[in-house]
Amino acid sequence: MYNHSVIALEKHTDMTNHSGKQNYFYPNRMGRVVLLAMEEILGHAGGNAVLNLADLPEYINDYPLYDQDLKYPFMHISHLQAGLESEYGPRAGHGLALRVGRACLKYGLREFGSELGLTDLAFRLLPLQTKLKTGTEAFAALFNNHTDQKVRLETDEKYIYWHIERCPLCWERQAEGPCCHLAVGLLQEALFWISGGKYFEVEEKKCIACGDSTCTILIDRSPMG
Ligand SMILES: [Zn+2]
Repeated sequence: MYNHSVIALEKHTDMTNHSGKQNYFYPNRMGRVVLLAMEEILGHAGGNAVLNLADLPEYINDYPLYDQDLKYPFMHISHLQAGLESEYGPRAGHGLALRVGRACLKYGLREFGSELGLTDLAFRLLPLQTKLKTGTEAFAALFNNHTDQKVRLETDEKYIYWHIERCPLCWERQAEGPCCHLAVGLLQEALFWISGGKYFEVEEKKCIACGDSTCTILIDRSPMG
C-alpha cells in the first residue's frame, strides 16, 4: 500500500470547486464503462478495494446508470487511477491501468459502437492508413461530442498525435512522468480493433500532470512486427 494520504487530501474536491477550476464530466455510461473494465481486470473484491482507496465507496455495488447525463466527474477518473497505484504500487498500478484501459474498449463499444460508425463492411475494406485516420478521428469525436474531455489530432509521416487538451485521467494530479495510462491502454486496444488485429506502439510523451500544456500520446503509424 502506498500514499494513501495523497488521495485522502484530495477527497471529494470534485463538488466543491475549491481550486477555482470549472468541474468537468463524463456521461454516466462512460463512468460505468471504466468501472466495469476495472472489475473485469481486478475482480469484484479488487475493484472494491480500489474504490475504497480512491475514496469512492459510493460506487461499490452501485455503478453509474447507462445514461448520457454528464454527471461522472473527471476527478473520479483520476482518483481511480491514483487508487490503482495506491493499492498495487506505482509500477504494477501502471500495468493494471493499461489493462483496465484495454478492457474499456469492449464495454465502450457496447455503449458507443453505433455512434462510432466504424463497424460496417465498407470501413473494414479501407486501406490501413485510411482506417487509422478515420478510426482515430471517430474516437476523438466521440470524446469531443459526448464528454467534457477535449482531444485534438495531428498527424505527420510517422505518428498520429493524440493531444488531450482537457484530461480526466490526470485531473488535478501532479506526477513525475506521464500518468494517463488508461488512455494509452484504450488507444492500444482501439487501434488493434480498428486495424483488424494489428499492434501499434502507443506512448504518452507529455502530460498535464507533469506541467505540460496537453497530455500527448504518440501512435506509431506503422504496426509492430
Ligand atoms: Zn492526462
